Amino acid sequence: MNDTDVVNCVRVGHTYGEGPLAIVAVHDVTCSVTAGARIALTGPSGSGKTTLLHMMAGLEPVTMGQLTWPRLEGHAGGGPGVIGLIFQGPSLMPALTALENVAFPLVLGGMPDAEARMRAGDALAQLESEQLAPKYPDELSGGQSQRVAIARVLAIEPALILADEPTGQLDHEAGRRVVDVLIQAAEHLDAALLISTHDPRIADRLSANWRMHDGRLIVDPPLGSTR
Ligand code: ADP
Ligand code: MG
Repeated sequence: MNDTDVVNCVRVGHTYGEGPLAIVAVHDVTCSVTAGARIALTGPSGSGKTTLLHMMAGLEPVTMGQLTWPRLEGHAGGGPGVIGLIFQGPSLMPALTALENVAFPLVLGGMPDAEARMRAGDALAQLESEQLAPKYPDELSGGQSQRVAIARVLAIEPALILADEPTGQLDHEAGRRVVDVLIQAAEHLDAALLISTHDPRIADRLSANWRMHDGRLIVDPPLGSTR
């Protein structure tokens, strides 16, 4: 571990359930996401990608090993507060407009409503999606919803962006644009970026390719050169 690591995992694992019903979703994963990293996480369905991302986001506990956020300690709010997670499935709140969805985490974090709305508008504009602001999630296409979910993450200015199959529901062209936006956002925020994907053409656009198989992680290029 060193202090350029945004996330550091040492023999990390996660088991869902207990006893005979236990499912080992992630097993013995040692890796680090360094500052400025651009990582693709590939692997078949059920190989543990979502579970690993959720542990890195602090959403799912580590049941084995140790996971730390060396670069984020001491940051206002501490550890996982400055991590942006784009979920695999739909994640917008249906009763809120796109703008309100983007503003919501800021308001939760204590930002005054007017300022949060302004920041949310800026984040949507950054994605050239300001026209979506007044729309409700059921009026948005898959690609538009994904953009709003990305804007919601950008608005919190995370040091780490974790995107879980953000292009899974999109055609290739829409998927390519979403990846462009994520890479640009990571550059703009100087954030590390990790995208799980099934699409090898997307994996090719990032600088490292990590593969999961049966809950285990294969890192390529090897640790130490993960930028
Ligand atoms: P991936 O994202 O690569 O498809 P997941 O992390 O979703 O993989 O799943 C890894 C394994 O954990 C799979 O066997 C899956 O069925 C299991 N799993 C995922 N979430 C849960 C859960 N909430 N409860 C029980 N098992 C789960
Ligand atoms: Mg998944």
